[in-house]
Amino acid sequence: MLNGLRGQRALVIGLAREGVDLTRFLTGHGARVTVTDTRSSDDLAESVARLDGAEVSYHLGGHQLTDVEQADVVYASPGVPPENPLLVRARQRGIRQSSLVELFFQLCPAPILGITGSAGKSTTTSLLGEMFVAAGRQVFVGGNIGRPLLGKLEAMTERSWVVMELSSFQLEPLQISPHIALITNVTPNHLDRHPTMEAYWAAKGQILAHQSAHDWAVLNADDEWSRRYAPPGNVLQFSLERVVDGAYLGDHERCVMLQSEPVIETSEIPLRGRHNVANVLAAVAAARAAGIPKAAMQAAIRGFNGVAHRLQTVAERNGVTWVDDSIATAPERSIAALRAYHEPLVLIAGGRDKHLPMEEWAALIVERVRHVVLLGEMSDLVAEAITRVKPTYHTMTRAHSMDEAVRQAERVATAGDVVLLSPGGTSYDMYHDFEERGRAFQSAVEALES
Ligand code: ADP
Repeated sequence: MLNGLRGQRALVIGLAREGVDLTRFLTGHGARVTVTDTRSSDDLAESVARLDGAEVSYHLGGHQLTDVEQADVVYASPGVPPENPLLVRARQRGIRQSSLVELFFQLCPAPILGITGSAGKSTTTSLLGEMFVAAGRQVFVGGNIGRPLLGKLEAMTERSWVVMELSSFQLEPLQISPHIALITNVTPNHLDRHPTMEAYWAAKGQILAHQSAHDWAVLNADDEWSRRYAPPGNVLQFSLERVVDGAYLGDHERCVMLQSEPVIETSEIPLRGRHNVANVLAAVAAARAAGIPKAAMQAAIRGFNGVAHRLQTVAERNGVTWVDDSIATAPERSIAALRAYHEPLVLIAGGRDKHLPMEEWAALIVERVRHVVLLGEMSDLVAEAITRVKPTYHTMTRAHSMDEAVRQAERVATAGDVVLLSPGGTSYDMYHDFEERGRAFQSAVEALES
């Protein structure tokens, strides 16, 4: 199969993060690659620099239809719509279309456990990865979670496992499904990028569409849209609300159950929030489908502190807990974070506004947060939203850097408080991405300790 790439004339459409990994892999295996992107070479300078040394022809700042005619295979990045003129031409000419994920699925010798859903993908993917490690399996964790897998193909065997996060855009064109497919939930989160809820549901459903009778689907029984899937193979469910064939809560919600057997007390789950209990149930059911023993599930759950920058506890100091939830780039996500704690809260909020409504968030801040530190471009907007809910809410301060925000939070926090960075806006006003913002928070907190 890998030999098939030698001499292949490949057209890569879209040079985002995935495009770089794909191009490097293709050229590394002897394909002759042309890369095209509507963005200019200036906009893509960083990606082009990462491909330094690879023999590639570039057509940036626009597409040339003739590139399609000269290609054996056209690889589209996730999110390139089917009506893209290059893809239209490829269909007209009967030229094969593929993608990084499809190529990976075709070449991968190991069984794949694929995870998708509207929320909880990264958490569930990471926890499942830990369960495989605890079971002593050789596992490769990656995909949409940000760790490229193509380059690791050569280290994989039939006895390894791949645990892979998949976005709906990666799934949409896929003509092949993983051996175990987990859908955490399907809620109207990404309707800005899909035309209708049905289209979004169908895109996620691609993870099951090409399964066979001996494959496994793991589905959320509490979720109306998830219940509409009809997988062709074995099914396990998970539920916070009722007994299902799979993973659920028993003993008055005190215990995680798997097919009538207790797995672990819910009080032993280190992650906060009910949504994370759902993620644990999802992981337990999927791990069962992969034959992971219960002891490995337990060990992984007990030791799991979450994924970086997602409600991640980064320090406990003088009775104050510091939590990095930099991933919360919208008010809705910050709301989920605020709901995950019962302790008094100090909130660091702000960032770049995405023009989303803030009323509900502001109301919850007034109810649950005793001091807000505002940081970044949308500080005024957040302050105004809070003031509209409660004109006498005066425990707000403004910071001009993350260090200052953390110092202000330290000044007001007392033992028993949780200081939460859960900004509710994107990071692009001050940082390259939410991870850089989270790292800035973590180093500011560390600096306090010294
Ligand atoms: P994803 O990878 O799908 O974006 P993550 O696991 O990174 O999801 O979690 C991101 C945020 O989404 C969390 O901080 C939390 O606010 C919310 N979330 C996580 N799991 C769930 C879930 N099962 N249901 C609803 N919201 C969730």
